[in-house]
Amino acid sequence: MPELPEVETTVLLLRKKTLNKVFVCVWGEKKNNLSKKLKGKRIEKITRHGKGIFFHLSSKEILFIHLRMTGHLLYGKWERKGKEWLSEEKIMQHPKNGFLRYIFFLSNGKQLALSDQRKFATINLISRKEKEDYLSRIGPDPLEIKKEDFFRILKERRGRIKSLLMNQQFISGIGNIYASEILFKAKIRPERNADSLKQKEMERLYLNMKTILRKGLSLQGDSTSDFRLLDGRKGGYQEKHLVYNRKNLPCPVCKKKITKTILGGRGTYFCPKFQK
Ligand SMILES: [Zn+2]
Repeated sequence: MPELPEVETTVLLLRKKTLNKVFVCVWGEKKNNLSKKLKGKRIEKITRHGKGIFFHLSSKEILFIHLRMTGHLLYGKWERKGKEWLSEEKIMQHPKNGFLRYIFFLSNGKQLALSDQRKFATINLISRKEKEDYLSRIGPDPLEIKKEDFFRILKERRGRIKSLLMNQQFISGIGNIYASEILFKAKIRPERNADSLKQKEMERLYLNMKTILRKGLSLQGDSTSDFRLLDGRKGGYQEKHLVYNRKNLPCPVCKKKITKTILGGRGTYFCPKFQK
């Protein structure tokens, strides 16, 4: 599932490619009225909160895309050959890029496409008020939140720290991969209760949450699963995992074997010696 670094990578690339372009029409795998709704509207600004992408349009409406499990956006040119959409070589090389659900045709002759194998991604045209309502229901963005605010919301919560980091109502943008990586860097066991954290541990958690997410962003995200860059290539964080997907491999700090457990139904990786 794309997390904050993957979504932010997408947004940075989208700004370079699609700002000020106008929607011409939309192809959908299923019949929909997006083409009618978007036609002639210009992309004025692109923002992100947590895992949500917001295209601010000239009509003052907002095109809200949430990639969910396997969704990712691609930018290029597609041509219809019989029942199939074919694209340039780089995009076609990766099979994950072929599950097209939508293609947005832009005024510069290029297209923005959504590939989404599991089909959970959502695309909605919403008002500013609806965007505000949505943001009021989810937690703050981990790259934006100030230390004192993070400590305050953390002290209000109980439950396991890893599950809490992944709870989008608590903080918005962290999923299973980065939660394991952040807790490793912060030297905190994933199954610890949030209310058992000492001041020093909360400090380490706050700092490493930002450090790990920024590292993921600097490597253009994690392509362990379906995430790809706009041109179809993989990001780089999956090559740099500290603990995630590294069961029985040596801990990068103490060389003890990484342990895998299941916590809240999700595969969880940690060092049994280094994390307390
Ligand atoms: Zn270790």
